[in-house]
Amino acid sequence: MKNMKEKRVLVITPHPDDAESGAGGTIAKWSHLGANIVLVVCTNGNKGTSDRSVSSEELAQTRRKEQLESAKLLGLTNVVFLDHPDQGVTNGDPFRKELVREIRTHRPDIVVTIDPERKWIRHQDHFVTGRVALDAVFPYARDYLAYPDLIAEGLEPHKTLEVYLWGTDDPDTFIDIDEHFEDKLNALYCHSSQMSSSKEEGRMRLRNRFSVYGPKVNAEIAEAFKRLDLRR
Ligand SMILES: [Zn+2]
Repeated sequence: MKNMKEKRVLVITPHPDDAESGAGGTIAKWSHLGANIVLVVCTNGNKGTSDRSVSSEELAQTRRKEQLESAKLLGLTNVVFLDHPDQGVTNGDPFRKELVREIRTHRPDIVVTIDPERKWIRHQDHFVTGRVALDAVFPYARDYLAYPDLIAEGLEPHKTLEVYLWGTDDPDTFIDIDEHFEDKLNALYCHSSQMSSSKEEGRMRLRNRFSVYGPKVNAEIAEAFKRLDLRR
């Protein structure tokens, strides 16, 4: 975390807007520090509305545009849309192979994704994305005998060094986002189809939620992660 210049980061999000909500300040910060950050959006979010006048297809298109706006604001290098339907990812192949493909293509030092292990209520897409992303990092992306056809395509095995999990019940790593709180808020509010409150209300809500972690790193506001060190 000390030197993020030219670090390669792969962010894997279940839905458009989850990464901003859990890790948007950190993503903005790392991008500002010169990291090369690619976002993989696993589902198209086409069930995320209670507005009956909007079709699933329209919603998916809207959410893709919103995601691209947010990515621009956060300074991301690239966005990959896997385009699974909302509530449509499953634990196993072919989803796991898709994530292995992204890891072997972008060859990240750090993977950032959602903690799958929420104890009681959890969105199935969040659980499956987090779980399959972790499985893809270890051992599938690393092992050359996993998906040999990817090797035939030139996608060599890759070992990710660190994983940061947002939305965790068990955080152990806190990142000061004082300088990038407004970036987080603005990126989140690019997803206007998902926002039921004003930006001012959102600012208060986010500030309350993330200021709890600030004192851990002598900051006002911080994001919280479970960090896995895979170098050992
Ligand atoms: Zn979500």
